[in-house]
Amino acid sequence: MSLVADTKVPSSPPHDCPGGCGREVPHRKLSCPDCWWLLPVELRKAVTHGTNRLTAVGEAARWLRENVAEVQAASTPAPTLRITIADPFGGAPHGGRRG
Ligand SMILES: [Zn+2]
Repeated sequence: MSLVADTKVPSSPPHDCPGGCGREVPHRKLSCPDCWWLLPVELRKAVTHGTNRLTAVGEAARWLRENVAEVQAASTPAPTLRITIADPFGGAPHGGRRG
């Protein structure tokens, strides 16, 4: 048997923010600050001062996923859809269709 004296491995690793912003959040926090302030005030109060905080945390995380993460995913166009329009007014002729 050997006693492990040097336990540097954190027992509570960070997790992804439930708001879908892609940030890592410390285990003890529900979300990043930006997403936290998007929560309805009653949910925030329940998390910080509620009598059943575990339930409140679950509710708040679910709210963020449903109201922030999915909305962001739906409203953000895929970056590959960006097309550069090259010189629409003239420039070098490019594959003309004339006769
Ligand atoms: Zn976030």
